[in-house]
Amino acid sequence: MPPESGDSAHFDRHLNQPRVITPAWQQVFYVRFLGPYHGLLTHYAKGGSAVCGGEECKSPLHRVEATWKAYAAVERWNPETQTWQPNVLEITNNLADYFAGRNLRGEVWSIERVGKSSKKTKVQGQYLETIAQVALSLPFDLLPIVKRFYGVSALPSWGAANPMPPKVILPDSEGAPPPGFIAPKREQPATPEEIQALREKREAAKRRLMESDRGYRT
Ligand SMILES: [Zn+2]
Repeated sequence: MPPESGDSAHFDRHLNQPRVITPAWQQVFYVRFLGPYHGLLTHYAKGGSAVCGGEECKSPLHRVEATWKAYAAVERWNPETQTWQPNVLEITNNLADYFAGRNLRGEVWSIERVGKSSKKTKVQGQYLETIAQVALSLPFDLLPIVKRFYGVSALPSWGAANPMPPKVILPDSEGAPPPGFIAPKREQPATPEEIQALREKREAAKRRLMESDRGYRT
């Protein structure tokens, strides 16, 4: 007998169609990587990004700019089912910086979207641990999921390297200040005597307040 429509009981709750995921503003989730990420080029447009068509791209933005994005097969921790669910993690330029030079398979990360407002955000990652390969599922094929996500049958730029150069990070140098430099005065931490004096002042103020309160009531 076929299952009644609307009856979801016959679905195994541990069977999922992997979705493309990215944290919402101020959201944190946990993923473990099944494999490396694969990049592609998109063009930013009103109502969402469109994939770059490669050499035959028809987007008017093609000559102006392309936004690189990447996708990786991951498992996301679902606190409700207490299982690791297969998903496709969308990786921004900023997030990819955290993954530079790493073999991601088996690595567990927290992924968070930060920013002062919902309009100006960036995605950050924090490495947590690496789990044994034997405990890990095999990576699944991302391509059909990403194609469906963009609603296209082909992804000509699949595998594109990030055209943005990696962040340049350099240390500060020690050295003498420039001539005429006057260091700004730093506030000294309070001494125990100063703390005691402050406390006594506060106590005295409290006493005065209580006395005036009593006077008001009588
Ligand atoms: Zn294009």
